[in-house]
Amino acid sequence: MKFETLSATEVVADAMTMKAIAVRPGTPGSVHLAELAKPSLEDVPNGRGVLVKVLRVGVDGTDKEINAAEYGAAPVGYDFLVLGHESFGRVEAIGNNVTELRPGDYVVATVRRPGTSIYDQIGTNDMTTDDTYYERGINLRHGYLTEYYVDDAEFLVKVPVGLKEVGVLLEPTTVVEKGITQAYEIQRRLRVWKPRRAAVMGAGTIGLLSTLLLRLRGLDVTTFALATRPYLNSDLIEAVGARYVSTQETSIPDGAAKYGPFDIVFEATGYSPVVFDSMRALAKNGVLVLSSVTGGDRRIEVPADKINLEFVLGNKIMVGTVNANREYFESGVRDLSQAELEFPGWLKRLLTHPVKGLDNYGELFEKLLNAKGAIKIFCDVAEL
Ligand code: BGC
Ligand code: ZN
Repeated sequence: MKFETLSATEVVADAMTMKAIAVRPGTPGSVHLAELAKPSLEDVPNGRGVLVKVLRVGVDGTDKEINAAEYGAAPVGYDFLVLGHESFGRVEAIGNNVTELRPGDYVVATVRRPGTSIYDQIGTNDMTTDDTYYERGINLRHGYLTEYYVDDAEFLVKVPVGLKEVGVLLEPTTVVEKGITQAYEIQRRLRVWKPRRAAVMGAGTIGLLSTLLLRLRGLDVTTFALATRPYLNSDLIEAVGARYVSTQETSIPDGAAKYGPFDIVFEATGYSPVVFDSMRALAKNGVLVLSSVTGGDRRIEVPADKINLEFVLGNKIMVGTVNANREYFESGVRDLSQAELEFPGWLKRLLTHPVKGLDNYGELFEKLLNAKGAIKIFCDVAEL
């Protein structure tokens, strides 16, 4: 945009507004470029505001489904919702009561904002029991696919400069971080639990990151996915010392007989029938973590007696997990740091499909719908 061609009032208006990639919830395929007011530090009370310049934002199945109008709601007073919940940015300015961040720091913002339940009141918004939940870029709060955002310092997590190239992977990592931490917490019921074998179902971004995190914890990991090896995802799995199994060649029951049974199974295929195979692949006292958000209405027949019997006689457990609170963003930073030390360059290989600039929202969504071999599609909003 050339400033000479604008009138004085237009220049002022331009400085006060910014671009954003948004949808009109309820209208399928409505992704478009919206304009909204640039936020200011004063939007957050008690001097706790932090103004962040957005650098990179990842997109995933959630964004695809919101654009398909399967869910997602605009904030009150808007007829559009700014997308983007996988953020990475740099602090531009801080309120006078912010001590934990400084201008120039790299940060990632959490996604869910507190509701009213007791879990929200203790900082575990991810465990809310409220029916209405607030998630930036997903439900009732604008997201990060824009030029700037302001938020309370409480919801921003500092990322070391050495991770800036891969910082956009932190949010998806936190989903895995939460699932694994919850599994270990639950297993304290056993007094002594020394998991040795793990299975990951799915080799998408979440499956890859689960494989990584379980390998960092020293487990023998078998990752099951549909495609036959070799391809980028199977290479990545083998590069962290895990085993890749294509279910076109070896079924989950056969794979479990060979490489299991598994003390922990992390399900991240997005395909609910796999849950029942996963239940049967569990070792005695094992824990199954479910993370797939399956919006459909699929029905299947399952060997109910067998599954139930094995669960009862084997003291097994199954847990669902969604979102992540600040604690998991902090442990996610530590795990990503360890990953960079142990497997240098591995994380960067997940960043397969960059799209330059918010203006190219069409290309971003075209890739999200159609790109072959994509792991992480993301928008380079500004220079790192
Ligand atoms: C996000 C989570 C969110 C979930 C449900 C996922 O794509 O990564 O933060 O809680 O969708 O909306
Ligand atoms: Zn997501």
